[in-house]
Amino acid sequence: MAEIRVMREDLLPPKEPPRRHLISIGDLGRDDVERLLGTARNFERSLERELKKLPTLRGKTVVNLFYESSTRTSSSFELAAKRLSADTMSIKSAGSSVDKGESLKDTALTLGAYDPDVIVIRHPQIGAPQLVARYTNAHIVNAGDGKHQHPTQALLDLYTISEELGRIEGLHVAIVGDVLHSRVARSNIQALALMGARVTLVGPPPLIPRGIEAMGCEVSYEIDAIKAADVVYVLRMQRERMAEGANFVPSLREYTARWGVTPERLRPGQKVMHPGPMNRGVEIDPVVADAADALIEQQVRSGLVVRMAVLYDLLTHGPAGVQAAAVHEIGAA
Ligand code: ASP
Repeated sequence: MAEIRVMREDLLPPKEPPRRHLISIGDLGRDDVERLLGTARNFERSLERELKKLPTLRGKTVVNLFYESSTRTSSSFELAAKRLSADTMSIKSAGSSVDKGESLKDTALTLGAYDPDVIVIRHPQIGAPQLVARYTNAHIVNAGDGKHQHPTQALLDLYTISEELGRIEGLHVAIVGDVLHSRVARSNIQALALMGARVTLVGPPPLIPRGIEAMGCEVSYEIDAIKAADVVYVLRMQRERMAEGANFVPSLREYTARWGVTPERLRPGQKVMHPGPMNRGVEIDPVVADAADALIEQQVRSGLVVRMAVLYDLLTHGPAGVQAAAVHEIGAA
């Protein structure tokens, strides 16, 4: 009888590298962020051409799975995938089997049966993206999980700041408002600190989590503190995340009077950002939202190219290859 021998490790074919996901800004190092912003810049140039579609992800499938409302994030992921020639499918919880009580695990197993390359997921519960990663073979992009993380929002904000102000390192960004319920704030604090910006959180004490300075930021309870910043980043009052009956602020009117970002509270030349959707007249005065120094529409534009860069980066393994191939594909298109 032939002898069965176990092959030595080094004689086995090389193992597949682990699937890459983007679940948190904590998944990224400074080099990764610089690479992604560089790829987004290349894509932005490619969109200036008449023919906006690139063949880069032809044959790949991107599924958008949204369990919470979204305008900007879902539309920009869909357009980003289309601009790269991927096939896309968008599933919203309303009108899907989720309405009939299907669990996230079963939805993931169902969608996984189509072998998607990427699943973009937004879900009200922290950890939902990891669960989908466990039950499918797709690369997962977190498009917002509860109040935890929204990494592509932070990346598009970094991109907007660096395009508008020429740098991120050394800038001072004031993040104002409902930090407590905000995944945007958490992702941005991490991302800005990673890239060497100074971050000050400004808002009423009940909306600023205690001990958040440990993330590498400062805290001020005085609205006047925003005057010192280069960029004022306004957060939405997230009423849907506030527990019923909990009084985080006495009233919205009071909040606006004390914490609303108005022209009088700003210094000329300060840039203003907001992740959207805005509550005009609550956290941001309409005059500020429509002023020339507001970067809110630029943020939306950045969202498209940054999400193209994220999809591209996840599907092409490895930093060096990413940049080389991006230039090659764009040049060839
Ligand atoms: N659109 C952002 C998010 O999904 C911000 C917001 O909703 O206030 O987190």
